[in-house]
This record gives sequence, C-alpha cells and structure tokens, in this order.
Amino acid sequence: MKACIIAVGSELLTPLRIDTNSLAITEQLNAVGYDVRLKMVAGDDIDELARVIRVGLDTADLVVCTGGLGPTADDLTREAVAGVLQVPLDIDETIVDRVRERFARRGLMMPEINRRQGMVPRGAVALDNPHGSAPGLWIEVGPRRIVLLPGPPREMGPMLEAVVRDRLAARASGGPAIFRRVLKIAGKSESEIDQAAAPIYTRWLDVATPVRTTILAASGQVELHLSVTTRTKQAADQLLAAAVSDLQAALGDVVYSTDGRTIEAIVGELLRARRMTIAVAESCSGGLLLSRLTDVPGSSDYVHGGVVCYSNRAKVEWADVPEELIVRHGAVSEPVARAMAHGMRARAGASAGIGVTGIAGPGGGTEDKPVGTVAIAVLADRQGELVEGVRTFRFPGGRELVKFQSATAAMNMLRLMLLRDT
Ligand code: ATP
Repeated sequence: MKACIIAVGSELLTPLRIDTNSLAITEQLNAVGYDVRLKMVAGDDIDELARVIRVGLDTADLVVCTGGLGPTADDLTREAVAGVLQVPLDIDETIVDRVRERFARRGLMMPEINRRQGMVPRGAVALDNPHGSAPGLWIEVGPRRIVLLPGPPREMGPMLEAVVRDRLAARASGGPAIFRRVLKIAGKSESEIDQAAAPIYTRWLDVATPVRTTILAASGQVELHLSVTTRTKQAADQLLAAAVSDLQAALGDVVYSTDGRTIEAIVGELLRARRMTIAVAESCSGGLLLSRLTDVPGSSDYVHGGVVCYSNRAKVEWADVPEELIVRHGAVSEPVARAMAHGMRARAGASAGIGVTGIAGPGGGTEDKPVGTVAIAVLADRQGELVEGVRTFRFPGGRELVKFQSATAAMNMLRLMLLRDT
C-alpha cells in the first residue's frame, strides 16, 4: 500500500527548521507494510495545502499530514482537508472540553482561540494527544485514509505509534512490509567499501526475495542500508542476517555496528567488558571526543575524564607533553599525540589513553601538514602490557567535519585495538 507524507509549516521552508517527522513516520509506516512514495513540505497557505493534499490523495492509499493543528490563524491543516473533501468543519465540544481541562490542570483558563482545536472536518475521528492540546484526526475517504498529526515531534511520535498500532497495522496485516538493517563502517572510504561490497550485494539482488543495499556516506562515516520486503518479520530477519553476515565477511572489522549502535556505544561496551577506564587529551577535536564518549548513558562506568589542551602550554602543563617534543616535531605530530596520550593516561591513572592533535582549519595548514592533518595516539593496558597505536590522518572537509572525523577515528583505533587484544 502506498503512503504520502505532508509536513506542514512555513518554518519548514526556511533554512532554520528541517522536517524530521517524516523520517519517523516513514519508519513506522514501512514496518506495517506501507511504502512511502511521496513526501511534500507545504507552508501555511490554505490553497497550497489543499493542492498538496489533493496530490497526496491521487497518489496514495494513506496521506499522513504533520503540523498545522495548533490554535492560531496560520494553523490551517483542518480547513484545507475540509475544503478538499468538501465537508463542513464542525465544532466537537468534547475536544474543546478536553483542551479546556488540559489548561485547567495547569491552573490556566483556555484562551478562546483554542476552540479552533475542536474544529473537525465532518466524519473525522479525534485521536488522543497525551502530550499536547491539539488532537490528531483520522479521516476515511472511501478506500483512502488521511491522518492528521501535530507538528511537535514529542507529541507526534506517541500519537503515530498509537495510530499505527490501533488502525494501520490491522489494515495492512498479512501484506508485505519493508524491514531494514544498517551496517556502520569506519576507517574506509565509500569507494573502497563499495568495491568490496558490490559483489555481495549484487548477488543478494538476484535471489527470490531480494535484499536491496544503498551505500550512504556522511561525516566521514559510511553506512550500508539493507532493506527487504517480506510478509513476516521473521523471514526478513533471516534474510537480513544472512546478507549482513556475507557483507561482514567481505568487509572485515571495519564494520563496527550492525544493529544501529553508534561507535561511541560500541567502544563503551568494549571498555566496560574489560573493566577499563579511559582518559583523553584533545587538541583539534576541542572536547568532541569526550563529549561523544559521554553521550552514551552509563559512560561514567569507564570514562575517567580528559582535558582540552589547545595551546602548546596547555599540552605541556596539563598533559605533561615534554616541551622539546613540540619544538622538535611541532604540536601536530605523532610524537606529541603519543606524549599527550601517555601523559593523560598516567595523570588520570586510567587503563586507556588517547591523544588527538591536528589542524582543523581553515587556517594553519602548511605544505607538509595541510588542513585536515590529524595525529592520533591510542594506548591501552593489556593485562599489564601497554599496547599503543599512532597514526596520522588527512581528513577532508571543513573545521567541523575534521573535528568529527578526528573523534570517530580515535574511537575506531581504540575499538580495533581492544578487539584485537583478545
Ligand atoms: P502546536 O499546537 O504546537 O502549534 P501544530 O500541529 O500546529 O502544534 P506546528 O505549529 O506546525 O504544530 O509546529 C510546532 C513545532 O513543531 C515547530 O516549530 C517545529 O519545531 C516542530 N515541527 C513541526 N513540524 C515538524 C516536522 N515535520 N519535523 C520536525 N519538527 C516539526
């Protein structure tokens, strides 16, 4: 069955806001067998909204709109749908009462404009919104369905789950659904990965139930997105597991995740399993490495801490880098990265240490150390024996991307070191 998603809101047509709701909606619809064929973003203009709703109904069995259900005059989704269906808008006093109660619970009087939220195109069913005032609406138009959901993601998400569970899953039951898996890869370029993976994924296209693969590269990381359309999750799981294992065998340990987990989560688990702790000294990554390591809930089990030693003096004073190393090799060099990792690890009394030093740009590059040059050292205590790895990378991209790739590469070096120590 085909679905169309319409994100409503003039702010989504500016450079300031992006429509992320449609990603969550697509994921949920795919899981119950809807194929999203069209996504549109429309501003708060009744005629344009009506036009895209008509296109949606011409294209798909299901049209999901998100946004434009608020109380103000520019929230026009209800009016536009009523106009397209040529039905009147009725006031549903039960909805108005519910909105009024919601205000009363917070000790407030409901402003009169909120009555608008009780307006429903005739024949529509209200969908409860546990996290906000705007109810959603479910509308049946012959064989087609329209679902109206509010814009704020925290309101939209739970309502969408309920609609999918209570209304859409049953409708689509027995039909095929799309299931996905993502392989995340670090340390190899998109073309290297494609070269190694292409023979495998082309073979998987040729089987009775083909597994489709898309290669995506962003922020210096590469992902292989696998998808398969089957009638049951069990059948999909089997096919996806087999395809994933073929790809892993071809690609080796550059694949760090096959279940959606981030590299920071994977590294965290490796450290936790070994009862290790980590301390980091960062220059060009400016704290991003520590920030990403601590994005993982429970990371206090293994993250000891770190310093951002941006200046030469900070490297000497805070990470115990011998000054003469900086003078001799420059601040961006493998010996300095190594000294940062050693100094920080020793100071912290941690079992693993990382040093990152580089040139994030746009200035500061030289002929032998262009912008994007980053030296990373990783140390880990392997049952009393200190193992270390030091590498110099040349990362492409601007400042932000160089910082991000530096943190990823450091975690990947540590991951490989920990994996190989068993
Ligand atoms: P409200 O009652 O809160 O006004 P609404 O249904 O009218 O609900 P909007 O006013 O359209 O929702 O959007 C409110 C906020 O929700 C937006 O400012 C934006 O931050 C977020 N939002 C809206 N649509 C989307 C979307 N498609 N993806 C991500 N965020 C969105």
